[in-house]
Amino acid sequence: MLIISTIFIGAKNLRDSYEEYDLVIIGGGLAGLTAAYESYLKTDDSLKILLIEQMSSLGGNSKRATSGINFLDTHPQKTNNINDNYDLFFNDTLKSGKSLNDPHLLDTFSKGKQFLYDYYTNIFGVDIKLVGQLGGHSVARTHRPTDSKFVIGYYLISKISKKILEESNIKIYYNSTVTKLLKNETSNTIYGLKYKKENEEYTIYCKAIILTSGGYGHDFGRHGLLNEYVPELMNFPSTNGDFSKGSGVKLGREIGADLVDMDKVQVHPTGFVDPKNRYVKDKFLAPELLRGVGGILVNENGDRFCNELGTRDYVTNKIKENCRKQDTDKIDQYECFLLMNEEMSIEFGNHFNYYKDFKGFIVEHANFIEMSKNLNIDYKRIENTINMYNDAYDKKIVDKYNKTTFLHKFDLNKKIFSMVITPSVHYTMGGLKINNRSEVIGTNGKPINGLFGAGEVTGGVHGGNRLGGNSLAECGVFGRIAADSAVNYMAKNNKEIIKKSSILGISSLFQMAIAGMIGYDCYRRGGCFVGNNNFGNYYLL
Ligand SMILES: Cc1cc2nc3c(=O)[nH]c(=O)nc-3n(C[C@H](O)[C@H](O)[C@H](O)COP(=O)(O)OP(=O)(O)OC[C@H]3O[C@@H](n4cnc5c(N)ncnc54)[C@H](O)[C@@H]3O)c2cc1C
Repeated sequence: MLIISTIFIGAKNLRDSYEEYDLVIIGGGLAGLTAAYESYLKTDDSLKILLIEQMSSLGGNSKRATSGINFLDTHPQKTNNINDNYDLFFNDTLKSGKSLNDPHLLDTFSKGKQFLYDYYTNIFGVDIKLVGQLGGHSVARTHRPTDSKFVIGYYLISKISKKILEESNIKIYYNSTVTKLLKNETSNTIYGLKYKKENEEYTIYCKAIILTSGGYGHDFGRHGLLNEYVPELMNFPSTNGDFSKGSGVKLGREIGADLVDMDKVQVHPTGFVDPKNRYVKDKFLAPELLRGVGGILVNENGDRFCNELGTRDYVTNKIKENCRKQDTDKIDQYECFLLMNEEMSIEFGNHFNYYKDFKGFIVEHANFIEMSKNLNIDYKRIENTINMYNDAYDKKIVDKYNKTTFLHKFDLNKKIFSMVITPSVHYTMGGLKINNRSEVIGTNGKPINGLFGAGEVTGGVHGGNRLGGNSLAECGVFGRIAADSAVNYMAKNNKEIIKKSSILGISSLFQMAIAGMIGYDCYRRGGCFVGNNNFGNYYLL
């Protein structure tokens, strides 16, 4: 609904145009789309929901994701005899996060993941039965599309956005950048926002906002968040889209939101070095799955130097210690080689050929002798490296880098693929402080009424370092929680919404009882989520 009101001030005619919505979601990546559809699911058509995206299409960094999404205790895991559970997952994430994770958020995250697989498969019809093990995980739990021609991020985004576009009343504005959140200071309550489209500024009044605007992994400006919190990374490349400017973090901070872990920025060990454009700042990610299916890392001397399945910061540090920093002041680039054989390339899936033939990142060599000539590596040295690796494979021993999983053996006389990689800024663990209701917390320690956050814009779940596959999962778990909390918040203040929203508006205890009784319905709808926390009981039904 567009309302145009005309106000006369003296001789000046100011046009003040505004629109009204119930709920506005800022950012159309996985967190935003999940939150939008979940809000719709909970309220049918009774809410006016708007999603605002600054780009001309949906997806953000989510659609770039290639390795997979972590779930717990799923049907594909069980079929493959993978024994996973809450404790294993919680502890892996805590260890990777150097125990800096917010324990309440991590607990909520770990519980939510147990239902997320069913949610995405039942509600959106996604088919993600392939399971792999990424660095830092003690078991295989990273799921990717069963049809290997699809890539996880793009696949999820297209399935969810199709459902939103075809089956919901959610309105989407593209090319529209939110520039300001409107908050009533006295009541500490959100009441709207300003956004810009084609240099025109517009106002929206609304009851609640969910911020899902992603991270700040490409905010390299002099006044940007990277320079403010981690200036030592300013000269690094990045795998993020240049829309990742942390605008949601800044919008929140402007109105008093608290920030956490802002100096915790993940550098991914493997960004592809493009032979045609070697020192470009924007790198394509060389997905962790390349190592997950058995790829190994060697330096310019042909030596291995780490457990390729270690956590990202461990592998990054090992690369920085063992591989040559390129002699350029354009960029901080530490290059090494990632090597794979043909079996690994097949297991990786069709996308391997995209990197090799379409992007030109991967070079094929007839055998190791040819490779050593092409890469200028001493053959005897690389032969020794490969023999040691094969020995560990044959004897099923833990090698000197503590690697325990050896999926495929190398054959010195067979085809080999090489790619040059370098560590690149990849993910920002810091962001808006939230509680496990996804309410954004102010610097005064209290939730800002009507403001919720989910996905990379928030901080606290991952602590000091994020495990691969956990970010998409975080978008799903907290996208759903943010939607639930926003709907509950609006229902408290608006009878119309209470009427149309099935289970809202009845007492918490009664909700608990019902939640127990309707287990089957939860399953059908893709999973229920019942628990309690410091802030009361919560339900995702
Ligand atoms: C190359 C790459 C590969 C990855 N692979 C994996 C993986 O395999 N598994 C995994 O778990 N994680 C992976 N990640 C991390 C993961 O993809 C992201 O952290 C996650 O998708 C973030 O989702 P989001 O919804 O929070 O933000 P995004 O998906 O980044 O979406 C945020 C959206 O908000 C919009 N926006 C920002 N500011 C505004 C504004 N002011 N107004 C309007 N719109 C705005 C942006 O344009 C963007 O579209 C990968 C990341 C990258 C870069």
